[in-house]
Amino acid sequence: MPTSFYLDNVRNLLRNLRQEPISALPGRLAAIARPKMFRLSEEAAHRTGAGAILARAYRGKGIALMFHEIHSDVDGELRTGCSAAQLARIIDAVRADGRDIATIGEGLRRLAEPDSAPFALLTFDDGYRDNRTNALPVLERAQAPMTLFAPTGMITREINAWWLGLREIIKTWDQFDLPAMGRSFDCGDLASKMSTMRTVTGWIGTDQSRADALAPVFAAKGIDLATLVERHAMDEAELRTFAAHPLVEIGAHTQSHRFLSALDEATVLDELKSNKAYLENLLGRPVRYLAYPFGTPGACGEREARLAALAGFEASFTTRAGHLFAEHLRHPQLLPRIDVGYAPQSRAALASRLSGLHRAMTTGFGNPVATRT
Ligand SMILES: [Zn+2]
Repeated sequence: MPTSFYLDNVRNLLRNLRQEPISALPGRLAAIARPKMFRLSEEAAHRTGAGAILARAYRGKGIALMFHEIHSDVDGELRTGCSAAQLARIIDAVRADGRDIATIGEGLRRLAEPDSAPFALLTFDDGYRDNRTNALPVLERAQAPMTLFAPTGMITREINAWWLGLREIIKTWDQFDLPAMGRSFDCGDLASKMSTMRTVTGWIGTDQSRADALAPVFAAKGIDLATLVERHAMDEAELRTFAAHPLVEIGAHTQSHRFLSALDEATVLDELKSNKAYLENLLGRPVRYLAYPFGTPGACGEREARLAALAGFEASFTTRAGHLFAEHLRHPQLLPRIDVGYAPQSRAALASRLSGLHRAMTTGFGNPVATRT
């Protein structure tokens, strides 16, 4: 039987495994079954070697990789970030895959040159202190540059960091009520704590008002968000020191880290411009690149891309799945970026993201070049 026949069949199977809910299944079941089937398919594609072949069209000149926290205790923080060892493994895997780790500026230059070498960008969001204490030593050993996207409010402690408050509640209590969601959660072990974190974060989705509805729960539990931000995020002096490191570049991530799609146009423009001006003033250097908070199609789109260009950014990153292609230079304000900073992570899942298979499956073998989706 010709190999192409086998590959066609595998492609058709994988095409049906988009990471969206299956409407034919009840919501709760689809939410469980879909990611599991997706993972099993990635595993099979990796083991048979079919993944890299099927993903050929999805493999771009560049990839932008996304991390958040680099934890000392990954389980203790409910696996919302990854370890320094995982970061080191990913850098090794990227280089073994034939890519240099580049700065964003160098990456954009390479996209414009047909004969340039493949590259990967390392990006970190939100300004966590562990990026300096845990990630930087790994980056120094590997001589790998990185970009940190910092929201003003994280550094000034004025941000509504509801995700930190939510994690603190789930870490501390084995049971809690969320009246705004009409739910009560039992979360006595790591697995149920992680699933509660996913459920509530998923419920908030792209709706800022739902995030704001957590405030009474924080108050009732005595959770002070400013104290949590102080514990986890860099302050102005730390950010200035970090930014002075030769491997580090600082990018923008808005003033208050809200869902931009829910804000009116003037507010979005102010979110972008004020964060850029704040960072440029603090660091004494230009801030050229932006990452949208959350980065999903529901959180940012064409309007935000237009406003990002108007605010003076040269390129802006989403969390749409996919690699970077020369075509992206024509619309550089909605660049795809791949989350690899989660744990645990199988070799197959990482291989699927590095090969491009992840976008192929996420889009049902749709357009390899991510723009709007
Ligand atoms: Zn963020």
